[in-house]
Amino acid sequence: MHEYSLASAIVNQVKQIAIEHKALKVNKVTVSADPYEMIIPELLQDAFKIIITEIELFQNAHLELLKLPAEIICLECEFKGEPSEEGDKEFAYNFKCSKCGSRDTHLNIRHLTIESVDLEILE
Ligand SMILES: [Zn+2]
Repeated sequence: MHEYSLASAIVNQVKQIAIEHKALKVNKVTVSADPYEMIIPELLQDAFKIIITEIELFQNAHLELLKLPAEIICLECEFKGEPSEEGDKEFAYNFKCSKCGSRDTHLNIRHLTIESVDLEILE
């Protein structure tokens, strides 16, 4: 269960942040994911809901998943960014560099990252 362990890691990190800020509640957690990091959003949401049921701080917390654009690294010119056209999703080498046009590129897969956490903090 890939999504379950990801959700668990998210909750643990956010819990730390919430404790550091002496938060009363976690309202919303926004995470960004690479389009090629094979995450099934529904499974991540379900796992998140299951994990937070036992944590008081997370009651009614909402998880938002942002999909990042694909990013390549060009082996010819070292360009890093969005490819100029979608390649065959099964074959990363098909992506075309938007700077020099080379197809000698690597897909740069970024791990799931917590972008922001919305906390309710006692004034
Ligand atoms: Zn290039």
